[in-house]
Amino acid sequence: MHHDRRDFLRNAAAIAGGSLLARDAAAQAPRPGAAGRPPQGASRKKMTLSWRPFTAQLRDVFTVAVFSRSTTPIVLTEIAYDGLVGYGEASMPPYLGETQEGCIAFLSKVDLSKYRDPFELETILADVDAIAPGNPAAKAAVDIALHDLVGKLLGQPWYNIWGFPASRTPYTTFTIGIDTAEVVKRKTRQATGFKILKVKLGRENDHEMIEAIRSVTDVPLTADANQGWKDKQKVVDELHWLKERNVVVVEQPLAKDAPLDDVAWITERSPIPILADESCQRLADVRRHLGAVSGINIKLMKSTGMREAHKMVILARSLGMKVMLGCMTETSCGISAASHLSPMVDWADLDGALLISNDPFRGTTIVDGRVTLGPARGIGASLIV
Ligand code: MG
Repeated sequence: MHHDRRDFLRNAAAIAGGSLLARDAAAQAPRPGAAGRPPQGASRKKMTLSWRPFTAQLRDVFTVAVFSRSTTPIVLTEIAYDGLVGYGEASMPPYLGETQEGCIAFLSKVDLSKYRDPFELETILADVDAIAPGNPAAKAAVDIALHDLVGKLLGQPWYNIWGFPASRTPYTTFTIGIDTAEVVKRKTRQATGFKILKVKLGRENDHEMIEAIRSVTDVPLTADANQGWKDKQKVVDELHWLKERNVVVVEQPLAKDAPLDDVAWITERSPIPILADESCQRLADVRRHLGAVSGINIKLMKSTGMREAHKMVILARSLGMKVMLGCMTETSCGISAASHLSPMVDWADLDGALLISNDPFRGTTIVDGRVTLGPARGIGASLIV
């Protein structure tokens, strides 16, 4: 415990200054091997992982079906190697069960110094995954920083490495949280730049929410019930009502542990696509949902990062499933990382960084409502504070 805390303080201090980290990396000069010669495979550059807790301040109190809050706990990571730094992030909305303390405890068990170089993503990230079950956001914080580092070493943004067309990015939704009709109208008026909006449903006032938005705009809507609905027949009736008001897709109508047969019953009768979000976390969940839903919502903080999210996109599309790319409230680090997958998805919900007032990164932007990928290598996010 005491040791963990000391490590944390040391790492927090190290990460406070980028120059410190760069110096650490530079200090990892090639070391003689046991026989006085460089070890096999040339130089002994090492990767070093560091981290610091960060609290994202939300611009507005955020309310969905099960909670309200005004901050999001985050842990920011860096992996230094060969004079370069890769950035990563774990965003941990409290209702998902991960904490900054738990994340830091997990990260202190990750030893990247034993790998010869960062390129064996598959090996390194499988090892990280095997450290402990759960901890998807903590794992994502390592995964994203490692991807950023590898992209920087390769000199390319990840959409190029993956071969995805940067010109074919989708519009992103902008989320309107549950609130009074007056506040919902005001927020909708402020969201004029967006070509599609997302509405949080699953409470008593669903119709009031939709009517309030529709009194201001007729842009298409996506709806997220966040497990808030119960009665199957009522859900189907609701879906028809929503369809008439140009709601184009609905996420997670039932509880995440609801029988998939019940979800399939709804999907069969729904006039609009039904997506699994809370019930579909990782790669292994995708096939399980085949036939029960129209598609899935992929988020880096559920999938353990970019590597598994990429596999989920490919698998879902090969199975004929629709894909939404979502996020938590995240800094532009996490959002930029996710954005490289966006040319391959049907809907993007990447407004997470727009919802916070103290974003420490600059990265992927939203231009005229569209996810806009830049030319920067790696994940394309740079630290600005
Ligand atoms: Mg959702």
